[in-house]
Amino acid sequence: MASKMNTCSGRAHPGTIAFANLVARVFPGCEIGRIYDCTKVAGYKTLSDHAYGRAVDIFPKDRAQGDEIFKWCIAKHNLNDITVVIWWRQIWSSLNPTIHKYTGVHPHEDHVHISLKLLKGFGLL
Ligand SMILES: [Zn+2]
Repeated sequence: MASKMNTCSGRAHPGTIAFANLVARVFPGCEIGRIYDCTKVAGYKTLSDHAYGRAVDIFPKDRAQGDEIFKWCIAKHNLNDITVVIWWRQIWSSLNPTIHKYTGVHPHEDHVHISLKLLKGFGLL
């Protein structure tokens, strides 16, 4: 039997949507992009956190706002159960909690990618 972790969740989860709306309120002018998407990480075989409905792409109005969103997410990662933030070729993750170079295929120069803990994404917290 396939593990639930290896299949798409089928929908964006309420916690993810609530978090996306929070970012949009805190940073006027940014736009909420992709949340649920049954897809793999660009260039990899593993499913994206979007496939579990626990990631959101935020499109800032400009690079300065993207920098602000990136820093805000890192500063508030505990409060919001954030596990990964990617922006402008940089990544912060709860597994490696320093800002370091992001070497993924997509440079993330147009959007901030934010992943949340699974429970948060499922709206259970
Ligand atoms: Zn993303």
